[in-house]
Amino acid sequence: MRKAMKVGFVGWRGMVGSVLMERMASERDFDLFRSRFFSASNQGATAPAVQGGEARLHDANDLATLGECDAIVTCQGGDYTAAVHPRLRGAGWRGYWIDAASTLRMNEDAVIVLDPLNRDLIRSAVARGVRDCIGGNCTVSLMLLAMHGLLKAGVVEWVSAMTYQAASGAGAQHMRELLQQMGYAYESVRDQLADPGSPILQIDRVVSEALRSAALPHENFGTALAGNLIAWVDRDLGDGVSREEWKAGAEANKILGRPAMGTPGSLIVEGICVRIGAMRCHSQALTIKLSQDLPLSQIEDLIAGANEWVEVVPNTRNDTIARLAPAHVSGRLRIAVGRLRKLAMGAGYLSMFTVGDQLLWGAAEPLRRMLRMLLDLQD
Ligand code: NAP
Repeated sequence: MRKAMKVGFVGWRGMVGSVLMERMASERDFDLFRSRFFSASNQGATAPAVQGGEARLHDANDLATLGECDAIVTCQGGDYTAAVHPRLRGAGWRGYWIDAASTLRMNEDAVIVLDPLNRDLIRSAVARGVRDCIGGNCTVSLMLLAMHGLLKAGVVEWVSAMTYQAASGAGAQHMRELLQQMGYAYESVRDQLADPGSPILQIDRVVSEALRSAALPHENFGTALAGNLIAWVDRDLGDGVSREEWKAGAEANKILGRPAMGTPGSLIVEGICVRIGAMRCHSQALTIKLSQDLPLSQIEDLIAGANEWVEVVPNTRNDTIARLAPAHVSGRLRIAVGRLRKLAMGAGYLSMFTVGDQLLWGAAEPLRRMLRMLLDLQD
C-alpha cells in the first residue's frame, strides 16, 4: 500500500522547502512513497534526486498533474495555495493537502498539525474526512511545544508572548537582504573600523546614515533590519493588532482543540511580535499566569518531561548565553526553554524565554510528520 502512494512537492527550494527536503532525506522518508516535484518557475528542469522520485519538474499550476498525487506537500506560500487549492478541490481532487502557508489554517475543514500536542485531534479529523492538514504559524508551534508540560498539566491561565523573530521567518529573499544590509553597513565604515583610533561616535553616525539611506537594500523588509528591529510582523489588521499577533491566540486554541480565543474555556495569548536581525530561530519572552502557584522545581519537571525536544536551560548567566540563543539552537530540533523564574507580580506569575528553530519545529517538521502519520494510517 505504502509504495503506491504518490506525493507531490511544491515550493521545495524555498526556506521551508529546503529544510523539509533535508529532514526528509535524513529520515529516509522518500523511501516510503513515490515523489513528484513541481515548480512555479522552472518546469521541465531536473528534479531533486531522491529515492522513488520522478526525473523532471512538473508545472506547479498544472491541475491534472497535481491531481494525480495522493498527497501534495506545499511550501510555496499563501498566494499559491489561494490560487491552486480551490481549483484543485473544485475539480474533485480528494487527496491530502499538506501546507506550510497560513491561507487554509482557520478553515473549518482544515486541521492545524502539531502532533506532539494534537495527535488525537489530527487522527479524528482525518477519520471524519478532513483532507487539508496545515502546519501552524512558526511562533505559535514553538511556543506551544515550549509550554507543553504546563498545558498538559492544565495550569495555564493566560500567556503574554513578546517575540524576537528571525529574518528567515519571512523567507529566502529576506534572509539574503539581511546579509546585504549587514554588508552595506559594514562597508560604510570599513576604513574607520580598520583604524582603532577613529572616534566611535563618527562610526555610529555613518552607520546610522547608512541604515536610513535609500540605497540600503530594503526591497523585502521595506526598511533596515540589520542594526535595527521591526516591531511589526505580517499584515496590519487595522485594529492595532498585527496578523502575526492575532494568529497566536487563534491558532493556539485551534491546535489545542479549545474554543475560540476570548470565549469560555479558551487560552488567552496576547503579545507583540517583533522581527530582529537573527538569521534563523524565533525567540519568545513569555509571561505566563498559572492557575496554581507551583514550586519552580515542579514547573521545570513538567516542562522538561512533556516531550522529547524541550531542553530546560538553567537560569544562570553562563547557561543562558551559551544555550538559550538562536546561534546555538539553529539547525536543531531542540526547543530551548530557560529564564524560568517566579515573578514579583504575585502568586502564579512565571517568566520563560524560549528559542526554537522556526524552520524545523516551526514549519518543516510538523509537515513531514503529518505525511508519516498518513502513511501509518494507510497501513
Ligand atoms: P520562500 O523562501 O520565499 O520560498 C517560497 C518560494 O519562493 C520558493 O518555493 C521558490 O519558488 C521562490 N523563490 C524565489 N526566489 C527564491 C530564492 N532565491 N531561493 C529560494 N526560493 C525562491 O518562502 P518560505 O519562507 O519557505 O515560506 C513558504 C511558506 O511557508 C509561506 O507561506 C510561509 O508563510 C510559510 N512559513 C514559513 C516559515 C519560515 O520560517 N520561513 C515558517 C512557517 C511557515 P519557485 O521555485 O517556484 O520559484
